[in-house]
Amino acid sequence: RTVYVNGEYMPETEATVSIFDRGFLMADGVYEVTSVLGGKLIDFEGHAVRLARSLAELEIAHPISKEDLLEVHRELVRANEIDEGLVYLQITRGSDGDRDFAFPDPDTPPTVVLFTQNKPGLADSPAAKRGAKVISIEDIRWGRRDIKTVQLLYPSMGKMMAKKAGCDDAWMVEDGFVTEGTSNNAYIVKGNRIITRHLGNEILHGITRAAVLRFAREAQMEVEERSFTIDEAKAADEAFTTSASAFVMPVVEIDGVALGDGTPGRVASRLREIYLDEMRRAAV
Ligand code: PLP
Repeated sequence: RTVYVNGEYMPETEATVSIFDRGFLMADGVYEVTSVLGGKLIDFEGHAVRLARSLAELEIAHPISKEDLLEVHRELVRANEIDEGLVYLQITRGSDGDRDFAFPDPDTPPTVVLFTQNKPGLADSPAAKRGAKVISIEDIRWGRRDIKTVQLLYPSMGKMMAKKAGCDDAWMVEDGFVTEGTSNNAYIVKGNRIITRHLGNEILHGITRAAVLRFAREAQMEVEERSFTIDEAKAADEAFTTSASAFVMPVVEIDGVALGDGTPGRVASRLREIYLDEMRRAAV
């Protein structure tokens, strides 16, 4: 694969980053994942805007213009011949050549890394036809989950807990209320009403969430942005998650409790279809 590191394209085998990089030593960095469908980028604008916000919240200098970033995404998609897949982008605070809790001098250049992942069949996923089974786990992450940092250890552990339980993913619960999935936003459906947690520091402000809620409202579906408990979720008619890499994913079971008839729900399936249609049309 061709990858991009700090202004240069190169084979992945030649790409290097300092062992003192704060991304490596302290998870001091942010990331974005943008889907590619039909060789085009899905919601690049949304990801670029959130990236700028994440960097600003952490006082990391924004090292690359939106136009250049778009060009790097497109060049990697071209070079690696990605029809369906992902572009991963990571920006860390870099390093001034030693380990220190204090941030380095503000002139220290951030580290910018991008690579692609080829995922044929991403849109037509068998997992979406089956629906996901989730377990619930306690949410013990830090208090700024609205910043898309590379601190992904607990979500990774959550994913492993789910796998060990024979499930696909975990929903995290704080004070009885669902925050989000390990790498997606969480929704339940009651009748025609879609319920998802309101925005705040407790969850990531999903790019896919924003688009899906817009499409739901345009389709005259009722949307309620509020907290819901894990017990309310288990009693819901259906449930689903959203993320840039899995789009709209029906959830068919929570902690062993089947939702509805245990197959992907009508609302989730319709939203997945609308989302993919609309976003393919708007792709760049
Ligand atoms: N919540 C968390 C914790 C995530 O890691 C992600 C995506 O990686 C999401 C939600 C979904 O966000 P988006 O739709 O922007 O991919």
